[in-house]
Amino acid sequence: MASVSIHPSVDGGVKPGKAGFAGGTLTCHCKTDPVVVQIGSDCLHNHVCGCTKCWKPAGAAFSMVSVVTSDNVKVMQNGDKLAVVDAGALIQRHACKVCGVHMHGPVTRPNHPFTGLSFIHTELSGTEGFAAPTFAAFVSSVIEGGTDPAKMDGIRARLSELGLPPYDALSPGLMDYIATFTAKANGVLK
Ligand SMILES: [Zn+2]
Ligand SMILES: [Zn+2]
Repeated sequence: MASVSIHPSVDGGVKPGKAGFAGGTLTCHCKTDPVVVQIGSDCLHNHVCGCTKCWKPAGAAFSMVSVVTSDNVKVMQNGDKLAVVDAGALIQRHACKVCGVHMHGPVTRPNHPFTGLSFIHTELSGTEGFAAPTFAAFVSSVIEGGTDPAKMDGIRARLSELGLPPYDALSPGLMDYIATFTAKANGVLK
């Protein structure tokens, strides 16, 4: 089953993060004048994602994406190379215009459960230690990215084997969090 490739950072087994990890710097793939972003904390949760919007390294079926609070994200070098991929999207993914790597994606939409969070790709860090991915989100969406539907059973089995339970939306905990936010905003829940 190891022949099913998910993402280079997990294909050899999910590496655990370091307890008390204090963050690190993310560097884009440019050989010269790379964009450097400093992350001032560990990520809050990390996962692999099958959607077609998250940045994936070449050949990977999934992205690996996590969140930190936006106040822990600081562009340190070559920020002029960044551009927002889709200004209408909830996640304002800032990509390097030269190499295409997504460096950080803040959510700034008012009154959204993810407001104040930024999406990042911890594989861009030179230092290991960010929290490991714990689940797989939007698994069925890899078909929209071109994966043969006949491969889905093998992909889900491999994700389970890696300890990344596959979900076709976000994890149940995050779906509950979003629904709770909405219920409180609507006054259904106190
Ligand atoms: Zn770049
Ligand atoms: Zn995604």
